[in-house]
Amino acid sequence: MNTDTTIVAIATPPGMGAIAVIRLSGNLAISIVDSVFVSNSKSKKLSKQKAYTIHYGSIVDGNRVIDDVLVSIFKAPHSYTGENIAEVSCHGSVVIQQQLLELFVRQGAQMAKPGEFTLRAFLNGKLDLSQAEAIADLIASTSETARRVAMHQMRGGFSNKLAELREQLLKFTSLIELELDFADEDVEFANRNELVALINSILAEINKLASSFSLGNAIKSGIPVAIVGKPNVGKSTLLNRLLNEEKAIVSEIAGTTRDTIEDTIHLNGLNFRFIDTAGLRQTTNEIESIGVKRALNKIEQARIILYLVDAQEEKETILNEVNKIAKKITDSQKLIVLVNKEDKSDSNHVAPVIDELNARNILTIATSAKFGQNIEELQQKLVELGKVDMPENEDVIVTNVRHYNALINTRKSLEEVLKGIHNNISEEFLSIDIREAINYLGEITGEISNEEVLGFIFSKFCIGK
Ligand code: GDP
Repeated sequence: MNTDTTIVAIATPPGMGAIAVIRLSGNLAISIVDSVFVSNSKSKKLSKQKAYTIHYGSIVDGNRVIDDVLVSIFKAPHSYTGENIAEVSCHGSVVIQQQLLELFVRQGAQMAKPGEFTLRAFLNGKLDLSQAEAIADLIASTSETARRVAMHQMRGGFSNKLAELREQLLKFTSLIELELDFADEDVEFANRNELVALINSILAEINKLASSFSLGNAIKSGIPVAIVGKPNVGKSTLLNRLLNEEKAIVSEIAGTTRDTIEDTIHLNGLNFRFIDTAGLRQTTNEIESIGVKRALNKIEQARIILYLVDAQEEKETILNEVNKIAKKITDSQKLIVLVNKEDKSDSNHVAPVIDELNARNILTIATSAKFGQNIEELQQKLVELGKVDMPENEDVIVTNVRHYNALINTRKSLEEVLKGIHNNISEEFLSIDIREAINYLGEITGEISNEEVLGFIFSKFCIGK
């Protein structure tokens, strides 16, 4: 990985804005800008200026002034990347941005790849890998909880926890490896009972972290919600209503697009993601048995299940159906029953159904997906149920599948260690297993990494970060 070059990218979103920022990082960052920068006093040279200062002037291409700009200067090693950085704030015209970019490239800068600034920060030891990933999560966060969890990880909450675990293991393995040096003398520096106790306590920590992933995933990608019920009860109508209300709210905020998170809604700082909505919108004559299978599969993946019944059905039919579904719900899941098409049914018919279900502790709302009746109440309930799981404190939550996999591998290695101790295996093999666990933990923070993994992680960043 070549970090000798100076890289450049537009750091602000594509398109027009009030201002745009073009960022350069590398040895020549400041001098490249300097070569096309003219200050009011003419004689001012950026390279002669102190770090962490801002300078007003023009960027010129020969005799032509492209724009009046502000240039911020950061000097190695005290910058985001650990290298020299110049940030040029220009007017937000697309033409200006493009011309400045081209000019800087002509002066010797290279176009940055996605995530290359942060990659350099990692390679220069400014942050570890999990912190770098947290920065991408932070930028992508669209809910308050996702922001908070990413922020905590970026500030090293997760890294510190892992460093603690790694250190404890390292201490022990070095004692065991010391025993190897005294192999003939049958000494035991590392007390095996203590080692077992340590591994068990580390396993407990790892398990706690690994099990937080399901919640972490819900925080990052949205709380998974399944909409289920028999054909024609109004599932797609409900989905469209929820999504359209979201679109109506969001489109009031100029410049936001929802294209990428099509089936996600945002309510009170939480994101909800509807599962398998493609199937919902298909109005095919699905064979019932396939439909049921698909519904069960959806329920399994969900944290919240919206179960729709038709308000026109007989009370007993509805109660039976809901009973069946309620049995499939696990402790970590939540069920909301919607007695839909209430507009088509008599309130004398609907009210007893609702009362009966509520008496059975099943959260039930009478809705009309078509006319919007009680949809607000449903949204409130979604928020209430979604909030229950959300972390209040600064607990470490695993949100990244790469981290999750590394934790699972760590767990496997530690279980091997326990087995090894139990079977009295030699120090040599014991130390190999412990080292393996240590390496898996190190993969998360990037103590152990390779170019392929790094390439994969940083390619998912935006350009300019
Ligand atoms: P799905 O098969 O469960 O997805 O059901 P749809 O959403 O396709 O709805 C089936 C039919 O019921 C459509 O004609 C909808 O317009 C209608 N529908 C859905 N919800 C309501 C409602 O709350 N009230 C009334 N009157 N009709 C509804």
